[in-house]
Amino acid sequence: MNQKQKKDIRNMLTSEMTFGEPLAKHTTFGIGGPAACMVFPESREELSTLLTYASEKNISAIFIGSGSNVLVCDKGFDGIVISLKKSFKNISIKKNSMIIVEAGVMLGTMVKQAMAAEIGGLESLIGVPGTVGGALIMNAGAFGSEISKYFEEAKTMTLEGNIKSYTRGEIEFSYRHSTFPNNEILLDATFKCKKGKPHQILQDRKIASDGRKSNQPLKFRSAGSIFKNPSDTLAAGYLIDKAGLKGTKKGGAAISEKHANFIVNMDNATAADVLHLIKLAKKYVIKKFNINLELEVKLIGFPQSMTQGVYYA
Ligand SMILES: Cc1cc2nc3c(=O)[nH]c(=O)nc-3n(C[C@H](O)[C@H](O)[C@H](O)COP(=O)(O)OP(=O)(O)OC[C@H]3O[C@@H](n4cnc5c(N)ncnc54)[C@H](O)[C@@H]3O)c2cc1C
Repeated sequence: MNQKQKKDIRNMLTSEMTFGEPLAKHTTFGIGGPAACMVFPESREELSTLLTYASEKNISAIFIGSGSNVLVCDKGFDGIVISLKKSFKNISIKKNSMIIVEAGVMLGTMVKQAMAAEIGGLESLIGVPGTVGGALIMNAGAFGSEISKYFEEAKTMTLEGNIKSYTRGEIEFSYRHSTFPNNEILLDATFKCKKGKPHQILQDRKIASDGRKSNQPLKFRSAGSIFKNPSDTLAAGYLIDKAGLKGTKKGGAAISEKHANFIVNMDNATAADVLHLIKLAKKYVIKKFNINLELEVKLIGFPQSMTQGVYYA
């Protein structure tokens, strides 16, 4: 991005924005170089103005929620990073257990409010970091539940600044994947839920919280599971462990001793450190089991030359 473009954006919006913002501050990994421009739009109008300008000027724009499933390159991203996590925070729970929620609301907030309204089903997602927007795009899931199970409809904004609506049948969801177009930003969603039994809700929540504490290396920064599990009965962490890689370090990053599908930032790790371990895990697992692990984490800002062989299919 050039100086003129930055100046234009500064002049056209009143939203919070920063230039050269270290994305490490906006990812759970605590890793990532600067974004040429980062904007937290304060309204749909401002978002529309920004997206229209970016597409007219051919400036790349990407969306993040709270950065809990991304690895950002050390060189950063030479474009506009847009996050709704500061302003798109409305949530409303209806008497019929419908939840209408903006994309910037934290998933944990929605889960807690649903539980308080004695709505059942979402409590297994307690502890999954991130925003509702990120959760829906990723089809976040845990302990037998997936957010898509309750999805009813959603609104997005296109790069031309137009609003589009999608209903349940129009979006396909699969394991950690949805078919929302990746050049549209998710604005809000409606979830159709049901009342649950309070003791069951509390029990499911406890199973999820306890399970997370005992299985995940929560003392260190990470982006959760790096790879998707190859199947329901075959965990990526098991394969990486059996390939002998638990505890392997590169720079400040390590394949977690506690959960081999987590790469943890132990001491000022760089994205290059993490990418090295990703490539290593893929290489060893292919060699030992002939299984090509697929990334769950989304890579941002990496040149193609660095990620060859990392993407599957
Ligand atoms: C400790 C830890 C534990 C985790 N445990 C789980 C788990 O149990 N289950 C699970 O499913 N995940 C888990 N994750 C991964 C992560 O929490 C989820 O994927 C989460 O839903 C991502 O939300 P986010 O807002 O941080 O999205 P981000 O990481 O910011 O973005 C993820 C993707 O969504 C896109 N995106 C985000 N917001 C929008 C938007 N408004 N419009 C369009 N695109 C958007 C981004 O472009 C990116 O492609 C874990 C992560 C950590 C760090």
